[in-house]
Amino acid sequence: MSSLPTFSPLDLAQALDGLHPDLRILGPGALAGRHPGEDAGNLDAGVMAQPASTEAAAALVSWCQDNRVAIVPHGGMSGLVGGGVSHAGQVILSSARLNRVLAIHADEETVEIEAGVTLEALQAALQPHGLTTSIDLGSRGSATIGGMVSTNAGGILAFRNGVMRHQILGLEAVLPSGEIFSDMTRVVKVSAGPDLKQLLIGGEGAFGFVTRVVMKVEPIRPHRAVALLGVPNAARALQVAARLRGHPVLLLEAAEMMWPRYVRDHAALKGFDLSWLEPDAAILLMEVSGESGEAAMTLLEEALGDLWEATELKGGIVAQSSDQARRFWDLREDSGFYFARYPHAPSFDVSMPPSAVDDYVSGLMARLAAIGAGFDAYVYGHIADGNLHIAVAEPGPLPSDLKAKVETAVYAGITGSGGSFSAEHGVGLEKRSAYLAHVDPVKQSLARQIKTLLDPKHLFNPGKVPF
Ligand SMILES: Cc1cc2nc3c(=O)[nH]c(=O)nc-3n(C[C@H](O)[C@H](O)[C@H](O)COP(=O)(O)OP(=O)(O)OC[C@H]3O[C@@H](n4cnc5c(N)ncnc54)[C@H](O)[C@@H]3O)c2cc1C
Repeated sequence: MSSLPTFSPLDLAQALDGLHPDLRILGPGALAGRHPGEDAGNLDAGVMAQPASTEAAAALVSWCQDNRVAIVPHGGMSGLVGGGVSHAGQVILSSARLNRVLAIHADEETVEIEAGVTLEALQAALQPHGLTTSIDLGSRGSATIGGMVSTNAGGILAFRNGVMRHQILGLEAVLPSGEIFSDMTRVVKVSAGPDLKQLLIGGEGAFGFVTRVVMKVEPIRPHRAVALLGVPNAARALQVAARLRGHPVLLLEAAEMMWPRYVRDHAALKGFDLSWLEPDAAILLMEVSGESGEAAMTLLEEALGDLWEATELKGGIVAQSSDQARRFWDLREDSGFYFARYPHAPSFDVSMPPSAVDDYVSGLMARLAAIGAGFDAYVYGHIADGNLHIAVAEPGPLPSDLKAKVETAVYAGITGSGGSFSAEHGVGLEKRSAYLAHVDPVKQSLARQIKTLLDPKHLFNPGKVPF
């Protein structure tokens, strides 16, 4: 790969101005003071192109090809691994104006949307049709469908419906060549050669810019009941979840687990009353839906009563109002609370077969303690599919030797157990060394060859996933 010419942000903004009638260019002045989302470096390029059509995005990409300018695709900037970090000389290609819901096929339970629609906006558009998305994330207000496609997002419902990859029926994208790849099929069954759109799902902006998708959706189930339960370990939490999944009437909507330190520190910070919880228990947050709110609550209480002893529950409360349910969810979803005390806490997002979770967590705590006094972690996550989020309770940034020790402690045994070092957040900048260490070398080599074939100048999101 030969070196790229460098434009100053101002020169680049001026050069791009007027390139296409549907293309808005924001230069350094317009971007100054804007919130950079989850990573302080997201807007460092100082130039953002906002196409309002696929053709405008293609014109921008073709210009960048001709002028060897690197492109960093952006959605809602809620990504947690630095996948959107940009530098002077590059141009951010944002989906902010590709924000239309194009068609809702209510009887088919599919929707056609542009990539910049946020998850929350899509849920709001579907609601009058009695529909909702089959995937849900805490970042629903900012995460876009294009960003979720590109990170193959997971979230709360993955245990039941799978991840983003399983929701996508069709996809349109601008390839690094400037060509428009269009595969907007609206059906589940297509057996017509390899499914090339899969390259863009989980592609983290390295294989092109996603502009539109066709997505599966499902009927909304508005009648909910939410409980917080004390559990001794993940095995028992999984037993509770399995019993509720087998319930003849209730449908399990969420099973989220928070380990004791996370529960204790977060509850203390928020003034959340934990007097009902036995000391040192973890918490399982359960949400179910039923035929009415009252019926869901009654059936949930009955079901919990039936399984109380067998699953060794350590206390529990069922929310009596939607406000209380929201407060329960806040304990789980406002998960960044520890950054106030540990601003650069090394954070991880791993997956493993659910049955391996208890051994993994006790091993992790022992491995961290062996690094040095006080090394400990906040652990929480989507327990029903074995996805754990881990934040090491250290202010950071850690010196490189300690960082390496922490990574070794966190990733030990993950690949061997059939899990992944990155469950749902991607590789981005932050998990590059883990990608090199844990992804099969043949797979890495194949990915490199495909990347070079599609993007020979390596202009799309360079420096992230190591191709
Ligand atoms: C509070 C909170 C809770 C979260 N919970 C979850 C969760 O439960 N599950 C989960 O999976 N994630 C979760 N996330 C992470 C984040 O929301 C997801 O990674 C999301 O998919 C990112 O979407 P985005 O639109 O913000 O993308 P961005 O952050 O803008 O970009 C993410 C990556 O996708 C690329 N990209 C973005 N748009 C496009 C496009 N149109 N074409 C090509 N590439 C593109 C970018 O280059 C970057 O590499 C959470 C984040 C926060 C802050």
